[in-house]
Amino acid sequence: MTILVTGAAGFIGSNFVLNWLNNEEGDVVSLDNLTYAGNLDNLSSVAKNSRHYFIKGDIGDSELISSTLEKYNPTAIINFAAESHVDRSISAPDTFIETNIFGTYKLLQNTLLYWEVLTEKQKKDFRFLHISTDEVYGDLGKDAPPFTEENRYIPNSPYSASKAASDHLVRAWYQTYNLPVITTNCSNNYGSFQFPEKLIPLCIINAINNKPLPLYGDGKQVRDWLYVDDHCDAIRVALRDGTIGETYNIGGNTEKTNIQVVQLICKFLDNLKPRPDKISYTQQISFVKDRLGHDRRYAIDATKIKKHLGWQPKETFESGMEKTIKWYLDHDEWFDKQGL
Ligand code: NAD
Repeated sequence: MTILVTGAAGFIGSNFVLNWLNNEEGDVVSLDNLTYAGNLDNLSSVAKNSRHYFIKGDIGDSELISSTLEKYNPTAIINFAAESHVDRSISAPDTFIETNIFGTYKLLQNTLLYWEVLTEKQKKDFRFLHISTDEVYGDLGKDAPPFTEENRYIPNSPYSASKAASDHLVRAWYQTYNLPVITTNCSNNYGSFQFPEKLIPLCIINAINNKPLPLYGDGKQVRDWLYVDDHCDAIRVALRDGTIGETYNIGGNTEKTNIQVVQLICKFLDNLKPRPDKISYTQQISFVKDRLGHDRRYAIDATKIKKHLGWQPKETFESGMEKTIKWYLDHDEWFDKQGL
């Protein structure tokens, strides 16, 4: 079994490639056009692995995608490739529309052309697994139940709207052309290799560099947090046992306000790498002007994937955060290369 992983040099994609090579058989073809968020260092540990191939390229490049599919003959495509940072989508939405919508369309269409000429057995075994977000469901009221797969799509940012559009395209390629797709909608991931523009790595790097730890507005926005390796396990399970045409919500059962997240980071750092003056890192917390249209709460009900596929997260927020913080502290050379 060979799989094609798009967006493989990004945060979740690279964790997934490593997780897959550790746990499954067969080859992995990693494809990524190496935007600012893509980093080949994330895959350096498998650079010489004979089961791993890397291709630099765009999911919207039909010629490249079709020749890659012809050459490697994958039995599954896992599509992580996307523009993923909400702030960037607000200031410069173009690439979000280009990659998340048009790129996904091109990838689907080229996948369909490839899939249509497979043998009946190969067609049956093939999967296109699309990675999406809980943000497509929009802003959740304070006391509302967490998002299930039945929630309406009410995206509020250019990022979430572009992801919602991609989810609809994926669904349409199933309903219209029978392409065997599965979509997963996950909550906020955290763990190794996350580009340090996102809250957790940003706060870790800023803390140890004696810079402010920025929190939007009152810091009380609620998110569900999912340890990236738990997410990768869930994707493997969905790929193996998921039902074609279904969507699965994946979450960490961990609703936290942003301020709680940053306080926990400070608590770990106070123990693991105390400031020279021994004052808590919490004194570096700084409230900044809120993001435009900032959703207050997202939360995931992951009952479906637990009940139907038997997956649930292994890490608690504390255990996952401890691993994450230790990883960043041990990899300062990785931070240094991010060009921030
Ligand atoms: P990321 O920004 O770290 O990585 C995205 C990767 O895609 C990068 O390596 C980038 O170079 C690559 N890429 C971008 N445009 C491309 C294109 N046109 N062709 C090929 N490669 C391209 O993102 P991430 O956090 O790893 O997220 C991966 C997926 O998971 C995304 O689809 C995102 O929407 C989704 N997601 C992420 C989170 C999270 O918390 N990080 C939560 C929910 C959903």
